[in-house]
This record gives sequence, C-alpha cells and structure tokens, in this order.
Amino acid sequence: MHPDCAHLHSIQGSGGDSSCSSSARLAAEGSCPGDVRIQLGPAESRESAAPRAGSQSRPHGEAAGPEDAAAEPEEQGGSSLSELRCLLQWLHKSLPYLLILSVKLLMQHMTGISLGIGLLTTYAYANKSIVNQVFLRERCSKLQCTWLLLYLSGSSLLLYYTFHSQSLYHSLIFLSPTVDFMNFWEVLWTVGVTDFILKFLFMGLKCFILLVPSFIMSFKSKGYWYMLLEELCQYYRMFVPIPVWFRYLMAHGELDTALGWTLGILLGLLYLILKLLSFFGQWKSFRQVLRIFFTRPHYGVPASKRQCSESDDICSICQAEFQKPILLICQHTFCEECISLWFNREKTCPLCRTVISDHVNKWKDGATSMHLQIF
Ligand SMILES: [Zn+2]
Ligand SMILES: [Zn+2]
Repeated sequence: MHPDCAHLHSIQGSGGDSSCSSSARLAAEGSCPGDVRIQLGPAESRESAAPRAGSQSRPHGEAAGPEDAAAEPEEQGGSSLSELRCLLQWLHKSLPYLLILSVKLLMQHMTGISLGIGLLTTYAYANKSIVNQVFLRERCSKLQCTWLLLYLSGSSLLLYYTFHSQSLYHSLIFLSPTVDFMNFWEVLWTVGVTDFILKFLFMGLKCFILLVPSFIMSFKSKGYWYMLLEELCQYYRMFVPIPVWFRYLMAHGELDTALGWTLGILLGLLYLILKLLSFFGQWKSFRQVLRIFFTRPHYGVPASKRQCSESDDICSICQAEFQKPILLICQHTFCEECISLWFNREKTCPLCRTVISDHVNKWKDGATSMHLQIF
C-alpha cells in the first residue's frame, strides 16, 4: 500500500496535468485513506493548480489589462465630451428663451438696477474726487470738498426718503428694516443700499477732515485719519449685514414644521460661524492699523546739510531740492513728503530696495475700498 501511495505522490509531483493529479488523488484516497501524506494531496494540487491557473489567466490579464485601462478614460472622456456637447446644444436652443426671461427680470427690477448703477457711479465719482483733493494737499479746493459733502449727504437722504416705508436706515444700527425677509431680492437690496450708504457716510467724514485747516491738523496727520476711517468703515460694514441675513436664513416660509425650524437654525449658525472666522481674520490688520495710528512710525531721521550734499541736494523722487530731508537707514535721503507718499504704496527704499517699513500704509491717500460687502 505504502509504495503505491509513494508512487502516486511521485506522479503528482512530477506530473503537470491537473486532471492527472486529481485522478491520482482520487485513486490515493481510495487506496490509502488513513495516510497523512495522502491528505496533503489536495493542498499540493491546489498549490500546483493555483500557479497554473494564474499562469494561464495572467497572459490573458496582461493582454486585457492595458486595453481596459485605455478604454476606460476614453469612454469617460467620450461621455464627458458628449455631455458637454449636450449642454452646449441645450444652451444654444434655450438662449432666446433665456434672453426673453432676463429682459423680463430686468424690467421687474428696473428701479433696483438703475438705483444700483446710480449708487455705483456716485461712489466712483466721490472716491475719485476725494483722492484728487487729498493728493492736491494745500492746493485742495474747499468748495469742491463742501460740494462733495453736500452731494453725498443729499443723495443718501434722498434715497432714504424715497424708500422711507422700508425704514432701510434701521439696518445701519442693527435694527430690523420693514422688508419681507422671505424675499431674497429685497434682502439683497437692503444689504446693498446699506453698504453704499455706509461708504458715503465715511467718505463724508473724509471730506470733513479735508476741510479742516492745516494749522489745526497737518497733512501727515490727515493721512493717518483717512487710514483709520477706512479701516473702521470696512470693519463696521462687516457687522452690519449680519441681522438681515440671519433673519433671512431663519425665516422658514412654507416649511412651517420642525424640519423648517431646524434647517433655519442650522443655516443661521453656519453663517454666524463663517462671519466670526472672517472677523478674526480682519481683526489682525485692524489692530495693526490702530497701532500705526497711535504710534505714527518714523521712517528715518532728519538729514544734515552734509548728508544732503552727498546726494547733490536733489531728491531722486521729485527731482527738486530737498524739502524737510529725511535720511533712511540705508543712508538715502528724500523729502519727507515724497518718501511718506512712497511708503503709502511700498515697503522698501526706492533706490536700493532695503526694507524700511514692515507695513504698507494703505488708504492714507483718502481712497475708499470698492469691495461690496454683500454677506
Ligand atoms: Zn522730493
Ligand atoms: Zn536706500
């Protein structure tokens, strides 16, 4: 019996055919069922069969693998391309209808859109005029500044008077205006108008500073005030739309159920979290501006006659004789006015690019940010 089994195993080991090994196994099971070596048979055959199956399937797999891999992106690319084509076709077909609808929408909101354009042009005009007047310094026209002040306050009052039924001014001080908080366009209108009016208010304050005589407030000091006012304006404008948007998000409308309430509260909370994050982002720059406003950093020391003559007594910014010359740490001399105007935009010396200032004094030129604080 045992020699038979050994013989069978030798056949199994040497034989490559699976049918032979399985028949041998059956024979072995029949001939010597109690033998341990015979029980190894199936494992052996499995082991021997597995690589064979693998070797048989691998060439097929190798041949098919790259084909499949190549075919899939092609299919994906093809399907996305055809989807894009479908979308373009749909757009092409529905363009006339979309145009008709947008004209209707424009007609429906004609008052809002024309007032929006009016506010934008008023802002652009006032902003440009204020920057011009600040640039002119002692040559600035008091008449022009008074006109700007009257124009800004007049247009703001006219707007609030025209829409007095909506009490839009309430949202300036975080109170609730009389608008339908379910209507997105009304909410957007309220937020937009409030943002522009706040810009006008701070522009008016800048005009007021422009009108202050230079013996009371120097031009340099006025620059710091414009900067502070602009930063304050931006920071305040971030807070103002919160109650309006919060009420809009909390309004549940048709979904007057527990689900509506929960969804409203969830959206309101998410909005508040996002706002909180943006406040922290802005707070850093606001704190820096406050520090600059109160410390008024100096860029250099007054230059002596000898130091001025080293630069041929000519300021390389204005190409004229020095007016109140200032010596920077890089040993370059400029007029005080020229170099402070330069540092409103840059941090480095105009000649050698040595870093002199750690901040850019934005908004010292009297400009107001164009950014519309919608949310
Ligand atoms: Zn100069
Ligand atoms: Zn320099």
